[in-house]
Amino acid sequence: MTVSAIAETGASFDDRTTFDAIIIGSGIGGLVTATQLAAKGAKVLVLERYLIPGGSAGYFDRQGYRFDVGASMIFGFGKQGTTNLLTRALAAVGESIETVADAVQVQYHLPNNLDIKVHRDYEQFLQELATKFPQSASGIRKFYDECWKVFNCLNAMDLLSLEELGYLTRVFFQHPASCLGLVKYLPSNVGDIARKYIQDPEVLKFIDIECYIWSVVPADMTPTINAGMVFSDRHYGGINYPKGGVGQIAQKLVSGLEKAGGQIHYQSRVTKIVTEGGRAVGVELANGKTLRAKKIVSNATRWDTFEQLLPPAEMPSKERKWQERYQKSPAFLSLHLGVDARVLPEGTECHHVLLEEWTQMEQPEGTIFVSIPTLLDPSLAPEGHHIIHAFTPSWMSDWQGLSPTEYQAKKEERAGVLLDRLERIFPGLNAGLDFMEIGTPRTHRRFLGRADGSYGPIPRRKLPGLLNMPFNRTAVPGLYCVGDSTFPGQGLNAVAFSGFACAHRIAADLGM
Ligand SMILES: Cc1cc2nc3c(=O)[nH]c(=O)nc-3n(C[C@H](O)[C@H](O)[C@H](O)COP(=O)(O)OP(=O)(O)OC[C@H]3O[C@@H](n4cnc5c(N)ncnc54)[C@H](O)[C@@H]3O)c2cc1C
Repeated sequence: MTVSAIAETGASFDDRTTFDAIIIGSGIGGLVTATQLAAKGAKVLVLERYLIPGGSAGYFDRQGYRFDVGASMIFGFGKQGTTNLLTRALAAVGESIETVADAVQVQYHLPNNLDIKVHRDYEQFLQELATKFPQSASGIRKFYDECWKVFNCLNAMDLLSLEELGYLTRVFFQHPASCLGLVKYLPSNVGDIARKYIQDPEVLKFIDIECYIWSVVPADMTPTINAGMVFSDRHYGGINYPKGGVGQIAQKLVSGLEKAGGQIHYQSRVTKIVTEGGRAVGVELANGKTLRAKKIVSNATRWDTFEQLLPPAEMPSKERKWQERYQKSPAFLSLHLGVDARVLPEGTECHHVLLEEWTQMEQPEGTIFVSIPTLLDPSLAPEGHHIIHAFTPSWMSDWQGLSPTEYQAKKEERAGVLLDRLERIFPGLNAGLDFMEIGTPRTHRRFLGRADGSYGPIPRRKLPGLLNMPFNRTAVPGLYCVGDSTFPGQGLNAVAFSGFACAHRIAADLGM
């Protein structure tokens, strides 16, 4: 479906209707909440400020290329267990997506010519590490094996709201060992576990970047629960790319939502959460309309929710405390490239991470992330061409206060630097360029509606694992948050978890 066709699908709604739930935003967190609630029979309305659904999991078309806006290393499309949340969210509303399995999660190109592939096959991955670090082989195995323990606990139970006592009690009696296992890991970070088994500083640096590429913080600040998921599920359910591009996930969730009786309206920017007596009761749109619901869900970031949609002066103390513990991560400088297929040598992997100096890992433009989804689904580019999405952390503050000419010049200058660095893994890249679009933190803020274009919250200092990450209820009665600024954080499968939990909590609160 084209962007304009989607924008036109919203039938007009009667603004006197009271919905069971209004969801602000159609990111994957918002859509999973909406579809889960609609599947339970709730009257649901999703309001999306942009033209299409998906947020950071959206797409855009240019000159025959279909680019993923952000995510393209997709967890959650496994076929077994309970952690395959994207598969399950789609199935709940009668939808599914054909996926293409990726044999290698990521290929690292690290300092000192350290080149490592994370194979889908666990033993092959450990074998590769053992070859590079023979002295640490047994410690490395013990470390990753402990991550499997976390994963096995998660994968034994239905992942729903940890705020719902009835569910917690039921799950505890069904899986007491798994629950106690998770309670043990909840306050811990990956660095604590890694140092139990590994002493070699270079291996510890490798564990740091293993965390950094999805948590954007090193191992000492990355919660063990999240690592248990990522480090194990890539070998269990695997990394699977949705045919037709990542945008398909949101499109299919929307079609499932509509089949289940839910509604979505595009170009519907919420400007205010309406409260009465301190309780959230509705939303006000940019066109001045007010809509009411029993429950309001914000899929915007917590900063946008509590500083833009609600008066910042009335921010609940719980939120202030959260902001003291968590800060916005940087956004990204993104290059969406169309390239001649001859740029990619035979056997090139889909995902790469490039870092030349360990000291630069967390610095702006230090680590470069690369995805080449057309290696898995060639239909996303014109014949004989590939897509390369290369992105690197970048702060909004570095892109403000520039005139339009200065902004354009800076975009081109920084893109040039990235392209030159990427020549190391793709020799001939500059010469093979067919198309380039450059996104900055400003682009991410403008099109994704995220505060400072941030990728999401990161701890300001070392915190006890996931203990301080909020669930879906907020200090404002009737208002819930969903998405990456709620437990368990960033990533499509993680926000899908947050969506399952949010819908479960709301359904319980509505007595459904
Ligand atoms: C460059 C990049 C690469 C990434 N790579 C990966 C990856 O490989 N794998 C992975 O799993 N994850 C990846 N991620 C992270 C992942 O995409 C996000 O964590 C996830 O998509 C966030 O989902 P969300 O539900 O929190 O909301 P978002 O995606 O932020 O969506 C929120 C939606 O709400 C809408 N909205 C906001 N405010 C309003 C308002 N006031 N009124 C109406 N609508 C509003 C927005 O327009 C948006 O559609 C990547 C992210 C980026 C940016």
